[in-house]
Order: sequence, then C-alpha cells, then structure tokens
Amino acid sequence: MKNMPIVAGNWKMHKTIEEGISFVGEIQNRILDTVEAKVIFCPPFTALYPIVDAMGQHPFGVGAQNVHHESHGAFTGEISIDMLKSAGVDYVIIGHSERRHVFGETDGWINKKIHAVIESGLIPLFCIGETLEDRQSGQTSAVLKAQIELGLSGLSEINPDQFIVAYEPVWAIGTGETASVEQIETAHKDVKGILASLFEANGAHIPILYGGSVNADNAKSLIQAEGVDGFLIGGASLKIESFCHIIETVAAHY
Ligand code: PEP
Repeated sequence: MKNMPIVAGNWKMHKTIEEGISFVGEIQNRILDTVEAKVIFCPPFTALYPIVDAMGQHPFGVGAQNVHHESHGAFTGEISIDMLKSAGVDYVIIGHSERRHVFGETDGWINKKIHAVIESGLIPLFCIGETLEDRQSGQTSAVLKAQIELGLSGLSEINPDQFIVAYEPVWAIGTGETASVEQIETAHKDVKGILASLFEANGAHIPILYGGSVNADNAKSLIQAEGVDGFLIGGASLKIESFCHIIETVAAHY
C-alpha cells in the first residue's frame, strides 16, 4: 500500500496568531479526521504554539519554516530546535528557496540544520530546486544532485518515515507558473534515484513532494504525476477554499 500523501502549507510571513487559529479551526471543521492525507501547517514562529494549543488532539502536523542548528547562544533573531519542540512542533522546513536566494542560506548551513534536526527527532522538510537559468542551461539534474549530496552530506542512514523532500523549481514558486507533469516526473525520478544511491531502499522510500504554484485547479493533474507523494503549497495554503479543495483532491487520489 502507498504511504499516505502529504499536503503541507507554507504560510511564509502571513497570518497573525488570531488569523492562524481561526484558519486551522475552520479547516478542522471542514476536513474529517479520517481524511486520507497528512496535513501540515507551517505558520510563522509566533503562531506555532498558539495553533498547537488551540488544536488540542488533532490529526494535523505543525511545522516551523526555519531553525538554527546551534542549541542556544548569541544568535539574534534565530530560533533553536528545543524552542520549537517546546512549542509542540513536529516538522521543520529546511532550505526553502526563499531562505537560499533571499537570505543567502548555503548548502553548508542547510547540511548543519539537517543533522541537528534529524538528531532532535523533528522531521525535516528538505527543499531543493533549480532556478530558471539552471533549467535553461540543462543543469536541472546536476543542481538537484548537488543540493541533495551537499545537504545530506555526512548522513550514513536515513529513516524514510522521518524525512521529507520537496522538489520546488524556483521559477515556479509564487509565480503562477507550474512545472509540467513531464518536468515534475523527470525531476522526481532523478531525486528518487539520487536518494536511492545514497541510502539504498530507505532512500527510495523517502516521500517527495512537489511545490510551485499548486492551486485548486491544477492539483488534480499534478498529484497524478508519477513519483509525487504530495505537495508543499505557499499561496494556495492561505485560503480556506483552495487549501481544502487541494487536501480533498490529494486524499481522493490516495
Ligand atoms: C512555497 O513557498 O513553497 C511555494 C510552493 O509557494 P507557491 O505555492 O505560492 O508557489
């Protein structure tokens, strides 16, 4: 049997505490507990604990959008793994393209974060993806390989139940331009192959999400792409109607 698909919403710098609690409450009311998809909310730091607290017993996951690899210290503006754990967080997005390209996060930093997060028991949601320039110059496969090998460097094994990869072409994030089914299938096949060459069967079983302008209209065709185990969603995860529709579409495909 296939693993349950994953639908993760990356809210980026959107929603106050009150807006976040009300949004998750509304989704809880609309989506039955038995829905056949793992839904993960990734709100801003301020809303993490209030959302965990307001949800009580719930089938949803809660993820942070970033973390620092050090346990504590003079790192103004940063947040530690223990702080996230004490807020009830289960997942951490690592290496999102906005962290890489807007904030200059390097593969080296990402690698440190991945090691620290895996050791802590939180689940990394590791983002990779090529720029438009990479794609146009035929470098997509090589870029994905380098991001995976550098990001996961030094790991001798991996638990596929405790690790998620998101393939997010940078040119498709927040642009309204989605990768074609063919482009997604090729990239997911490459990523699976690279993970399998690093971690054998465990690598091949790591869930691989697609992200990049997924919305209520294209979710049905994209979830059918070979090798897609769910979605990481930005813009369309901010609206009740579109996010519910996507969750239901993905669950129906399971
Ligand atoms: C994202 O931020 O990870 C993302 C995929 O954004 P969007 O869905 O808005 O393209």
